Amino acid sequence: MELNKLKLTELVPLISKGEVRPHEIIIDVFKRVQEVEGKVKAYITLTVEKAYDMAREAENAIFSGKKSLLTGIPIAVKDNICTKGILTTCASKILYNFYPPYESTVTSKLLNNKYILIGKTNMDEFAMGSSTENSGFHITKNPWDLERVPGGSSGGSAAAVAADECIAALGSDTGGSIRQPASFCGVVGLKPTYGRVSRFGLVAFASSLDQIGPITKCVADAALLMNVIAGHDPMDSTSAPIESSDFTEYLGKEVKGIKIGIPKEYFIEGMDKEVEERIKDAIEELESLGCIPVEISLPHTEYAVATYYIIATSEASSNLARYDGVKYGLRVQGKDLLEMYMKTRSRGFGTEVKRRIMLGTYSLSAGYYEAYYKKAQQVRTLIKNDFEKAFEKVDFIVTPTAPSPAFKIGEKIDDPLQMYLSDIFTISVNLAGVPAISIPCGFSEKGLPVGLQIIGKPFDEAGILQLAYAYEQSTPWHKMKPLL
Ligand code: GLN
Repeated sequence: MELNKLKLTELVPLISKGEVRPHEIIIDVFKRVQEVEGKVKAYITLTVEKAYDMAREAENAIFSGKKSLLTGIPIAVKDNICTKGILTTCASKILYNFYPPYESTVTSKLLNNKYILIGKTNMDEFAMGSSTENSGFHITKNPWDLERVPGGSSGGSAAAVAADECIAALGSDTGGSIRQPASFCGVVGLKPTYGRVSRFGLVAFASSLDQIGPITKCVADAALLMNVIAGHDPMDSTSAPIESSDFTEYLGKEVKGIKIGIPKEYFIEGMDKEVEERIKDAIEELESLGCIPVEISLPHTEYAVATYYIIATSEASSNLARYDGVKYGLRVQGKDLLEMYMKTRSRGFGTEVKRRIMLGTYSLSAGYYEAYYKKAQQVRTLIKNDFEKAFEKVDFIVTPTAPSPAFKIGEKIDDPLQMYLSDIFTISVNLAGVPAISIPCGFSEKGLPVGLQIIGKPFDEAGILQLAYAYEQSTPWHKMKPLL
């Protein structure tokens, strides 16, 4: 048996019964990495030696009866999540030598479970992008078609899961970076409610939008991973003081009578016809399971991309001020302090990061703050209100995750506006702070995966997972694997 191909929910019972040892799992995972990583390039750092040490620790825990949920499970972690003593670059040259002196809360929770870290995955630099082409190191390829992007910014995590180079992964989502790559790679990606999962140790991009979440091979796996990573954290002041629930609670429960809202603004002129068809089929499938589709309106949707790119760039320009060559990361010497700052930042940051720092600095500057940043915050409230109103009528909202399947490498890299539009269906969710999942819902004629997005009320991840699970179980998509 190739253990790397198994799901989290399949491996956990095998480990519990003693039928499989953590060692055997990572042997299969690294064998797979050796076979395909040269083509896919999902990782920035592979932690092979560390993984064998961790497997030993997991086995000791099992032998001494101290096993917990994820003991011995190989997981890949996006490279903007701090892992103590393990290189964490954010795919930026400015952090090429950054070994964090502390552990993020999510990976601490995984460590308490005695998980196995396989490596740190590639991403767009500082999570800015929709294709992983903005990585300062290399481009990750889509396992379904190596000429195409895996989506972004968590493209490395999504590709690693799709290619069976790990069992599950963590990503981060500021405007779609878990869901869009999950949809491009034919896997499951959940962005939890803002505040549900601690951001302590997540390198900040846009702090009012960033959330960590799971990228997995199936819906039940996402629920299981959420059971470990979610919950209040005193180390993160934006973490919600809410009791964490059992996210597997409603898996397998009936979905009859559930009202699903179909926002008319999400089925627009110019959208990819195949995506539209797959989503319509998925809605019919949900209807056949007893769900009731209701047409709804989210009237401020058209302002979401503009609003997001003012808020996200403003917050980024402030968050990224810390990379100045003084405390950590790259330092390029200059004749004085100012020149050292300038040389370090111009050499360390890539083009997209610089573009965003300039946009954000401009929006926050004294003369323009009222016109741009303040206005964007006001529109953000209108977008949030749209969701609140819609959720008075329906239980969930169903939309495409992305307007097209995976595009070709190089296709949008010289046109930032086109690239920004890849997140047109995911961005509003971050602005409103609500949770949403992307699950596979079929393929294009070229054999590229298409993703269905299910958006829920704040803190209703368990409900989203219930509906997603019902759909997944009645369709064959999650069983398909790319031929690599
Ligand atoms: N693609 C969006 C951006 O470039 C979202 C990125 C993300 O979610 N991290 O900002």
